[in-house]
Amino acid sequence: MNLILLGPPGAGKGTQAKLIEDRFGLKQLSSGDMLRSAVEMQTPVGQKAKSYMDQGALVPDDIVVDVVFEHLAGFKGATGFILDGFPRTADQAAALDRWLSEHQSLIDHVIVIAVPDDLLVKRISGRFSCVNCGQVYNDYFKLPSVEGVCDNCGSKEFKRRKDDNPETVKHRLTVYHGDTAPLIGYYAGQGKVTSIDGNAPIEQVTGQIDALLGTTV
Ligand code: ADP
Ligand code: ADP
Ligand code: ZN
Repeated sequence: MNLILLGPPGAGKGTQAKLIEDRFGLKQLSSGDMLRSAVEMQTPVGQKAKSYMDQGALVPDDIVVDVVFEHLAGFKGATGFILDGFPRTADQAAALDRWLSEHQSLIDHVIVIAVPDDLLVKRISGRFSCVNCGQVYNDYFKLPSVEGVCDNCGSKEFKRRKDDNPETVKHRLTVYHGDTAPLIGYYAGQGKVTSIDGNAPIEQVTGQIDALLGTTV
């Protein structure tokens, strides 16, 4: 089973992708994580991508497509993948369709996580994550159960994303509405879209995804 998680920045794509990975044995492929690691490692891709990411603009399609397909190729034969943050433009979606047909593969569901913009600004400005294991937390909605200690791995070191600031967030939302939201219509045309209410506690959002995927875990 292959899934696409579509939704604005801060909708909860990464949070839900991790939970789906655990429950259904699928592999999360986050274009944002791939690009951030390229930036950190100062690879040629990272050097090209950095300024776009810092501004909250989309990294050019040709760069992103190469990076994502390289990772996708590595998953041939696995149970399936969850695309988190890709595709984000019509050209990326068309490139993905070509890649899938060349690899005799297909997308089963496109899950759209819908959240109003004003709530997204709060979610993104409160986001932080564990340096060691990547577990994502939130100042307002999801603090570690023991203050300052990661629930998952016990680490005491956390980090915040450079692009998670109010000005950049506004731009990211504009980009989402202009370039990415139209993909909902594209995938609806393929009969693949299910929209779920992301304006609910994390477990309830997971419950809606479980109901769609037909399993109660
Ligand atoms: P995305 O990958 O779509 O950008 P994240 O999964 O990183 O979103 O979530 C953004 C922030 O909001 C994180 O700090 C996360 O802990 C928090 N969050 C995710 N889902 C919910 C939810 N349903 N309710 C409240 N906060 C949430
Ligand atoms: P978000 O929490 O906003 O959903 P991501 O981690 O998915 O953030 O993406 C962070 C940044 O990485 C984006 O603002 C953009 O600059 C770049 N990026 C990630 N995925 C893509 C993509 N599919 N196409 C173009 N740029 C991307
Ligand atoms: Zn951790």
